[in-house]
Amino acid sequence: MTRINTKVLVVGGGPGGYVAAIRAGQLGLETTLVEAGRLGGTCLVKGCIPSKALIHVADRFASMAEAADGGRIGIRLSAPPALDLAEAVGWKDGIVDRLSGGVAGLLRKAKVRVVEGTAVFSDAKTCSVETKDGTVTITAENVVLAAGSEPVEIPALPFGGDVLSSTEALALQELPRRLVVVGAGYIGLELGSAFRKMGSEVTVVEARDRILPIYDDALTAPVQRWLEKAGVRVHLNASAMGLEGEAGDRALVVRTADGEVRIPADKVLVTVGRRPRVSGWGLETMAVDMAGPFVKVDDQCRTSMKGVWAIGDLVGEPMLAHKASAQGEMVAELIAGHRRHFTQAIPSVCFTEPEIVSVGLMPHEAEKLGMGVKSGIFPFSANGRAMTLEAGENGGFVRMVARADNHRLVGIQAVGAHVSELSNQFVHMLEVGSVLEDVAGTVFFHPSLGEAVHEASLRVLGHALHI
Ligand code: FAD
Ligand code: NAD
Repeated sequence: MTRINTKVLVVGGGPGGYVAAIRAGQLGLETTLVEAGRLGGTCLVKGCIPSKALIHVADRFASMAEAADGGRIGIRLSAPPALDLAEAVGWKDGIVDRLSGGVAGLLRKAKVRVVEGTAVFSDAKTCSVETKDGTVTITAENVVLAAGSEPVEIPALPFGGDVLSSTEALALQELPRRLVVVGAGYIGLELGSAFRKMGSEVTVVEARDRILPIYDDALTAPVQRWLEKAGVRVHLNASAMGLEGEAGDRALVVRTADGEVRIPADKVLVTVGRRPRVSGWGLETMAVDMAGPFVKVDDQCRTSMKGVWAIGDLVGEPMLAHKASAQGEMVAELIAGHRRHFTQAIPSVCFTEPEIVSVGLMPHEAEKLGMGVKSGIFPFSANGRAMTLEAGENGGFVRMVARADNHRLVGIQAVGAHVSELSNQFVHMLEVGSVLEDVAGTVFFHPSLGEAVHEASLRVLGHALHI
């Protein structure tokens, strides 16, 4: 048996854990990282990156299919494109391999020791790992828990066979002819829309009365319009009851307000949320307090046990990779004795058609907090660059939300093609405490989608120029 005594032990090599370990190593702290699967975690291996790769394939395929179907803007193809999903998935896997290998290289450079296997704790500062070379027992002064999350299962539709989680959906070798997606949240609509673009017939079943419940109606309306145009049927207020029939003649039975419906399905993708990975590795022996299903932490990611920290999906919403990484970087610096707190605005982006971005507060959220706000939108239909990108047609816009008293920005949202790339500009404006006049007084490049941000702030101030 090998024994390791380390200053910092990081559990999990996802975007939370590997960033914590790299930063701890850079700061000269002796650091050990344990990873049960592949370096990169959910994000790099079966989440953010694989899904965006597949969405890119779907976009390329859809524009070629459109060109073969009469074409637009002067581009026509004489034959429809063919999709080899196995090859596309292989291309995606190549990206994953490069990124996961890159993380290994960065950890080496930061002198982080990596142990491959599952860390199982016997008390808050001791774990053992069964590796291919035998048992490794690790004791640490500081433990950073970054065990991430896993997909939620519906009892009536256990994962397996034709019932897929996002992980299997991102590894399919053949396109399902009929795909039913249960859950119209981030994953369901990102992947559902991608499969529709690649040619599957897609139906969405959502328990609530709206799609993408985290955004307001104005932001989801363009996505709703695209789904309708693309022929994606959406059942709201609907519950999936189970799969019926034999392979090839399967149907998902769904209870709706109008009674039970049977939706023919070759595959069912269940995307009804993710839950923190809190069992199976001895968390219960560590005596940390919980906050509902999550590990409870303060604004420095300290748990209730001294020297035990927790970050990322394990500690709650938003379950996003950049939040996990930012927390990981902060915790490493706190262990090294720096002064840090986690108060940052976290941008959220949904890669639907079109994309949605939100940073800070939406108008209804600000009002709920009793904050007097002014808000205004600028539509992409009045933005020249959006027109040249064919991005102005779906009802997209930029919206600025500012305090009515001092004009300080408290939220920025956008919906439209390519708006994901504006998200960092939005979050920077919020972090530096911009007021509407700061944005109004900045010269934006022409032609650019960003000009809509300038115009939206002018509009709130009452003197938009191009509308
Ligand atoms: P994870 O990435 O889940 O990593 C945890 C790691 O810990 C895993 O590798 C696991 O093997 C390991 N582990 C767990 N327990 C142990 C143990 N006991 N011992 C050793 N190792 C252990 N977020 C975005 O910000 N943008 C996106 O576009 C986006 N798209 C997504 C698409 C999909 C399909 C999915 C599923 C998720 C997506 N997410 C996205 C969410 C994002 O992947 C997560 O928020 C992020 O990965 C969380 O990072 P983490 O480090 O907390 O945990
Ligand atoms: P989600 O929380 O985004 O959406 C789940 C949806 O399922 C909700 O609309 C919910 O009302 C619905 N639902 C819940 N139970 C249901 C049931 N029994 N039947 C039908 N519908 C039901 O969850 P997700 O799509 O699984 O994604 C998980 C998390 O992964 C996200 O919350 C997000 O943190 C992360 N993610 C982020 C991105 C991104 O940043 N672009 C992309 C994918 C995933």
